[in-house]
Order: sequence, then structure tokens, then C-alpha cells
Amino acid sequence: MESYRVEPGHEVRLAESDPRDSTAFDGDKTAGKARTKELNRRLEALQEVLYAEGKHKVLVVLQAMDTGGKDGTIRHVFDGTNPQGVKVASFKKPTPEELAHDYLWRVHAHTPARGEITIFNRSHYEDVLVVRVHDLVPPDVWGRRYEHINAFEKTLADEGTTIIKFFLHISKAEQAARLQARLDTPHKQWKFSTGDLTERALWDDYMAAYGAALAQTSTPWAPWYVVPADRKWYRNLVISQALVDLLESLDMRYPEPEESLDTVVIT
Ligand code: AMP
Ligand code: MG
Repeated sequence: MESYRVEPGHEVRLAESDPRDSTAFDGDKTAGKARTKELNRRLEALQEVLYAEGKHKVLVVLQAMDTGGKDGTIRHVFDGTNPQGVKVASFKKPTPEELAHDYLWRVHAHTPARGEITIFNRSHYEDVLVVRVHDLVPPDVWGRRYEHINAFEKTLADEGTTIIKFFLHISKAEQAARLQARLDTPHKQWKFSTGDLTERALWDDYMAAYGAALAQTSTPWAPWYVVPADRKWYRNLVISQALVDLLESLDMRYPEPEESLDTVVIT
């Protein structure tokens, strides 16, 4: 999984990273899915001890183009975890109140508390992505934000938050197929937005914006992973493995029981 990690300070050429890659499982979907199931159970157990210990805070950032699989990732990768300790924060077009503040204001409020995993479904990165692509603020304004973001995430990390960030990398052709499926499938039509076509037309600008963001904000304290995401099973596998590795590295323990438990008699 480490091969998908963006090394701090390295250039990111998304055009050269294959969204259909499945090297770690050699294209073997059946074996890959079985492995993901095992990882699901492992993640479930790790999340329980994270919650019980109430010490670590874990932030998972998901970014992708429309149809990239953020919702599917949340459904599949976190399957079986306890909703009491796992939160999702979805960041949409900012409200007037949010726009009246700095762009990190709405984000900070949703960062995880001790014992929690919080998943950002989109994030503060939109403020250097959609905002950059659509010139919603001048270049000198969004240009400063990479540095803010690194400092913000460093603050969270210094104060005990473990951060991991995933860019779900789909191809433009795969997006076409998924948009078409949304059009053609009655129970998926609610997800179709004509606005997605406007964004799709700006694909190259988005890839440039993503490339810059990934290169400038993959840090030792908040690394980015570029996840091949054309194959959903492989996407789930890569993210599950990366999360299990991360949580295992935290060396978590259940809290010690009160001392004299063996003398307790329940009447
Ligand atoms: P969805 O994730 O499909 O529900 O769409 C949410 C929409 O909100 C996307 O089109 C995002 O680009 C947009 N969005 C999220 N954050 C921002 C932001 N800070 N500024 C402008 N648009 C945003
Ligand atoms: Mg959408």
C-alpha cells in the first residue's frame, strides 16, 4: 500500500498513475474481496478498542471527482464499525454563514474527538480544488492555502489527531460509465446532477488542481494516498489495508479494569 502514498515534496503526475491498477492482487477480484472482508473485521475490532481507550482521534479525508466512490467507500470500508464512534462530515457548497468566515472555520468544528474516527466526505481541500478551478477567489488567495492547510493539519496532529487522506483516482472514461449508470438506473437518478457535467468538462483543470494539492500537502503528519479507484473492489481493499495498518501502528489497548474486580460479587 505504501506505493500509493505520495512522498512529501514529490511531484504528482496523475496522468501516469493508472486508475485501473490492481497489482497488489493481480486483478484477482475474488481473492481481493475475501481479503477486504477480513480487513473489515480487523477494522471493526480496532475501532472498538479505539473507542474504548478514548485516547486517539482519527481523521480520514476522502476526496474524488464526482462518482469517484466516496459514498461507496464509506459504506463498504466501514461496514461493521460502531456508528457510535464513527462520524461522517460531508462538506457541500458553503452556506452564506460559512462563506462569511474563513474557509477552515466550518471544518475545524467537525474534527474528531478522542476515541472517534471522523470521515470527511470532501473537505477543506475543496478550497484549493473547486475554488481554484472556478476562480471563486483570486489565485493569490487560494495560493496561500496549501501552507494554511499544512499548518492546520500539523496543529491537529500535534494535539493528538492521526490523519490519513485518500484521493480516489478514477479515469474520465469510468466517470462517463458511472454517470450513465446514474441516468439509466431509477434508484440512482437522485444522485445525478447536471452540474456534474459542468465539472466533467473541466476534467483537466481538476487534475491539475489535484496534482498541485497532493504534491503540496502530503506531509509526514498527514499523508495522501492516490488510490486506483476504477475497480471498486480494489479501491476498498487499498483503503481498508491502509486504515488497518494505520490503526495497528497506534498500539491501542483496552483500559485497565478497576482493580478489585475479582472480589466483586453480583447479587
Ligand atoms: P456532492 O459531494 O456530490 O454532494 O457535491 C457537493 C458539492 O459541493 C460539490 O460540487 C463540491 O465541489 C461543492 N463544494 C464543496 N465544498 C465547496 C467549497 N468550499 N466551495 C465551493 N463548492 C464546494
Ligand atoms: Mg455529486
